Amino acid sequence: MRIDFTAGDAPLNRSDDLLYTLFVPAHARQALPCFDQPDLKGRWSVTVEHPAAWRAVANGAELERRELGTRTRVRFARTKPLATYLVSLAVGKFQLETAQRDRRTMRMFHRETDGAKLARNREALFDLHAQSLAFMERYTGIKYQFGKFDFVLIPAFPFGGMEHADDIHYRAESLLLEESATQRQLLSRARPIAHETAHMWFGDLVTMKWFDDVWTKEVFANFMASKIADPLFPELNHELQFFLDHHGDAYAVERSAGTNAIRQPLENLGAAGSLYKPIIYEKSPVVMRQLEALLGEELFREGLRGYLRRYSFGNTTWDCRG
Ligand SMILES: [Zn+2]
Repeated sequence: MRIDFTAGDAPLNRSDDLLYTLFVPAHARQALPCFDQPDLKGRWSVTVEHPAAWRAVANGAELERRELGTRTRVRFARTKPLATYLVSLAVGKFQLETAQRDRRTMRMFHRETDGAKLARNREALFDLHAQSLAFMERYTGIKYQFGKFDFVLIPAFPFGGMEHADDIHYRAESLLLEESATQRQLLSRARPIAHETAHMWFGDLVTMKWFDDVWTKEVFANFMASKIADPLFPELNHELQFFLDHHGDAYAVERSAGTNAIRQPLENLGAAGSLYKPIIYEKSPVVMRQLEALLGEELFREGLRGYLRRYSFGNTTWDCRG
C-alpha cells in the first residue's frame, strides 16, 4: 500500500539549517501515518533529500547517496523492528567525527565551532560509548543488535539524551565540557552516555508494552549507568550520593497517606507526565537495588539476561513471567 501524506511539523524541530525528529513518547503520528503504540514495532526504511552541503543520519546505515545538483538524496537501510518513539532522523549542517573502538566504527555528528573544545572532548566521548557498549554486551550476554553506532550532539536539545536506536541524540552542552570540569561534572557526563547506551538493550531491544511501564526502561538504564560509570570515578563516594539522591525524597512521599504503587495505570497517554513523581524517580531505583541485594548480583543478572533474551525485539510488562 502507498500513502501520500503531508508531514506535520511539530515533532520535526525545524530551523534554517537543522532538522531533528523527537517522537517520544507519541509524536511520530504527528509527522507520519502510524499508531504510536510501543508494542506495534515496525521496520523502517527512510530516504531523505537535503541540500548538498548538509549531512543526514537516521536509524539504519546509509545505503546509497545520490548527488542531484544542489541536492543530495540518501537512502538508509531498513531498521530492525523499532517502536515509533525510537525512530529518528537528524539532517542539517553537521560536522562528522569518526573513530574505531573494539573493531566498531563509531560516528559523532556535531555542530561545535570551537576546535579546541571538540579536540578536548572527542576521545572521551568515543571511549565512554565504547566502554558502555562493552559492559552491556558482557553483562547481558547479548551483542549490540542495531548494527552501526552513531550519536548526534544537538545544541539546546530538550533532554539530556534520547536513545534512538543506533542514533542517540544528546544535548551538546552536556557532553562538551570545559577544561576546568570537576570529577562530578565528568561523572555527570559519563552517566547519561552509559544510560542511553544501556537503553539499546533496555527499551530499544526489549520495550514496554505500554507507557505505564516506561519506568522500567528508565530504572534499568540508570541502574546500568551506575554500574558502568561509577567505577570510572573511584574517588567519589557513590553509595553516599545514591542515599542522598534518592532515599530522602522517596521516604517523604512513602511515609504519607498519599503514596502510590510504582506501577500506576495509564488510561490516557496525555496524562503520562503525571506519573513522573518521586515514587518513580526516587523509590524505584532503591527497589531495584534492593532486588539485586536480595537475589545476589549473579542471580539478578541471570534474571535480566533471561528477560532480555526472551523478549528481544518484542515487548513486555513488569508482570511478565519466565
Ligand atoms: Zn532514559
